[in-house]
Amino acid sequence: MDERQVYWIEGDGIGAEVWRAARPVLDGAIRAAYGESRRLVWEELLAGEKAYAETGNYLPEATLAALQGADLAMKGPLATPVGTGFRSLNVTLRQTLELYACIRPVQYFQGIESPLKAPEKVDMVVFRENTEDVYAGIEWPAGSKEARKLAAFLREELGARIDDLAGIGIKPMTEKGSKRLVRKALQFALDQRRESVTLVHKGNIMKYTEGAFRGWGYELAEEEFGTQTVTESQDAGGKLVVKDRIADAMFQEVLISPEKYDVIATTNLNGDYLSDALAAQVGGLGLAPGVNMSDQLGFFEPTHGTAPTIAGQDKANPGSLILSGALLLDHIGWHEAAGLVRAGVEAALATKEVTVDLASQISGAKTVGCQGFGERILQGV
Ligand code: NAD
Repeated sequence: MDERQVYWIEGDGIGAEVWRAARPVLDGAIRAAYGESRRLVWEELLAGEKAYAETGNYLPEATLAALQGADLAMKGPLATPVGTGFRSLNVTLRQTLELYACIRPVQYFQGIESPLKAPEKVDMVVFRENTEDVYAGIEWPAGSKEARKLAAFLREELGARIDDLAGIGIKPMTEKGSKRLVRKALQFALDQRRESVTLVHKGNIMKYTEGAFRGWGYELAEEEFGTQTVTESQDAGGKLVVKDRIADAMFQEVLISPEKYDVIATTNLNGDYLSDALAAQVGGLGLAPGVNMSDQLGFFEPTHGTAPTIAGQDKANPGSLILSGALLLDHIGWHEAAGLVRAGVEAALATKEVTVDLASQISGAKTVGCQGFGERILQGV
């Protein structure tokens, strides 16, 4: 018996119901693929409101300790109360566990209405750097003591033209942070026999951050994957092509020629925009899976939040969590089971009996609940 332990966090809001629908699909696909010879051993960890209710702590030490020693975990969405000074659990987890790569595959599912003429040409995987860039949280409000002090320093010591009353955010990007992200993208592309990795950056304007990301990316490809990769100007000859695009041009490219793009490695802000825009191209976030990774841990999660207005009403779409499970199965090499999960989703969409969010995107569709949609996916496995 081949067993893999997976820690799981239920999550807030719609977390409980999407998990109830998703787990049977994942276990069912493994059984259908391998009989009793493989299984996932699910072990629950507490976080969020459920943890608070049971332990008085939103992120118990035991949860962090288990995750620090883990290689596989999955989570439902966790709520971040707005304006309470409450630090986002998602951000805390990301930072504490050094989950530096946010990976989101974008794939079209037949039957979903898309704003594109040929959405089936979209098949990309976005690797977004998750720890640096303007998202590092180093910023001060306009007029604050800190911003004024920094503006004065920049003006007087470094000769920068900056207004005394500017709000200031800092964009740190390092060789280490950029290279480890690009390394993950290249390794994934080689493992999955993908055709190309595109470095997406705004290096024409931000030379020493975005431009450096591009430079470090090519350098890493040459240093560590030199025999397996070529650049765009060379003859591919079956090797992985490493190319780069300026971010604004890339938004046009993925609309006009999506078939030319495959794996994308990009900086934090670009990746945030691009992954949501790509998800919209294939019909929105309802079926968008994701994973945040460190060198040790793959932490799989749907890209949506807790959807508080529909929580507890059996309306949520469990597809994103289910497809995140398929990513986990691919990650551990259980590709047959992952394929069955995706086939189940395709079969369920073909029945046109889908959750309410998808029904609005499929002509002639009938609405079923979260549980019912999960059951239809399981039937198609
Ligand atoms: P959201 O994703 O929860 O909701 C956005 C819209 O999409 C809502 O209309 C919602 O009803 C709908 N929706 C989301 N998931 C759905 C699903 N599975 N099926 C059907 N409809 C779905 O985003 P939000 O409203 O900005 O955030 C709500 C809470 O979730 C906040 O506390 C936020 O911090 C948190 N959040 C957590 C994560 C995470 O844990 N990774 C991600 C995003 C937001």
